[in-house]
Amino acid sequence: MSRAQQTTQALRAGFDAGVTRSRRWRRDQLRALRRMLVENQPEIEQALRDDLGKHPMEAVITEIGMVIAEIDYALPRLRRWMRARTVPLPLMLAPTRGRIAPEPLGVVLIIGPWNYPLQLVLNPLVGALAAGNTAVVKPSELARATSVVLADLLPRYLDRRAIAVVEGGAEVTGELLEQRFDHIFFTGSEKVGGIVATAAARTLTPVTLELGGKSPTYIDDSVDLAAAARRIMWGKLLNAGQTCVAPDYVLATPATARALLPHLDRATRELYGSDAAASADYGRIVTTRHTERLAQMLSDVEPAFGGDVSIEGRYVAPTVVDAVSPDSPLMQEEIFGPILPIVHVGSAAEARAFIRARPKPLAAYVFSRRRRVRRAFLTETSSGGLSFGAPAAHLGAPQLPFGGVGASGMGAYHGEASFRTFSHLKSVLDKPLHPDTMRLAYPPYRGRVKSLLRRMLMRGR
Ligand code: NAD
Repeated sequence: MSRAQQTTQALRAGFDAGVTRSRRWRRDQLRALRRMLVENQPEIEQALRDDLGKHPMEAVITEIGMVIAEIDYALPRLRRWMRARTVPLPLMLAPTRGRIAPEPLGVVLIIGPWNYPLQLVLNPLVGALAAGNTAVVKPSELARATSVVLADLLPRYLDRRAIAVVEGGAEVTGELLEQRFDHIFFTGSEKVGGIVATAAARTLTPVTLELGGKSPTYIDDSVDLAAAARRIMWGKLLNAGQTCVAPDYVLATPATARALLPHLDRATRELYGSDAAASADYGRIVTTRHTERLAQMLSDVEPAFGGDVSIEGRYVAPTVVDAVSPDSPLMQEEIFGPILPIVHVGSAAEARAFIRARPKPLAAYVFSRRRRVRRAFLTETSSGGLSFGAPAAHLGAPQLPFGGVGASGMGAYHGEASFRTFSHLKSVLDKPLHPDTMRLAYPPYRGRVKSLLRRMLMRGR
């Protein structure tokens, strides 16, 4: 029996034994997970530093702190989320009682990427535990140090009957995908998302796919360009650009682009100094292979600033490229690195048409003080999320479901959305046998009462 099979069978036994059902167990697991993060903060920060050169402060803001916030949001709401909700039913069915009762799905699989290797497996895990599931966590093999830390810590803090970590790459994930799960939660690329969805389809297993894409940023001259430039560069350069919701490219008129460029340059130097390679705050690219991929994207372009690459150092300087053609290699795939192309458009309407003509992105950002422009982006473009004035910030709000649409994914999580993703909302109807009001619907379909009922039903309410 493979390790994947053994693990899932053990977790199924745990689930079937009812280990995860009580609110108390869920609460204790969430608290233990929180304790794990707090007690091992230095070790976790070091792993993220090893994997991605992440500064400990950035590690807290974008990884550890986000999971703590998610737990702290879930804990006081757990009772309400778990409660069956009574709903009024049609008079025709009276006397009856209707309820919607959330129930756990069973054994779920959480597959994570390398870019936020802690947060992107633990935040789904918070939802899975809150909803009373058992879970297999499969961290990314490319963020090796974080994977090791998770495999060491999670079984020490959480109930081993219900949570297991399986480490490895494509082969191990392939073995896991041969097992029977009740839900698969995948974060990663569109390509592997397709592999996961295909495997899941064989057993009709529901999936959540948190994918990526090219998230556009539109900016016009109505905003404070210096302030906007700081926000854009912060969102772009976080984790050295390896963020699924990073502003992938900017859309602006040539005049706005010209005015914006010096601000982008200044903002970059404010954030990381004139040589980001010497800044302790600036991250590194996850592997030399990905660094080469980014270097390749820059091979034929003339950056407005930046452009330095060190393959061995896994370093790519903050780089902005102006007047990029839509046919450029920079515009063919998600950049996933600290390179910001600016594509010129004639107007806001043209920017919207540009976005609509491409796969639906995970996020879209708009910097404009013009109400009509903002409203038009809201109603005329489709994206997983839309933020005015602040890239990536919507991820930090558990009140806002986070997820993609179309090519950027399906399903959503964070806060109550996570609880729902990992729950089945069971419809429960409760009707006494007497009086037998359902007789009206029984054959034989003859007589005045039945024809009266027929007419009533056709008239509707
Ligand atoms: P990836 O798809 O290469 O890997 C994700 C996971 O799939 C890893 O755990 C990996 O081990 C596994 N995997 C890789 N190849 C596989 C295969 N052939 N069969 C089965 N499993 C396989 O993604 P990545 O490079 O780790 O992450 C980058 C991508 O993730 C980007 O596209 C980014 O936009 C996206 N992303 C999305 C979000 C989001 O929340 N929507 C967050 C972060 C990253």
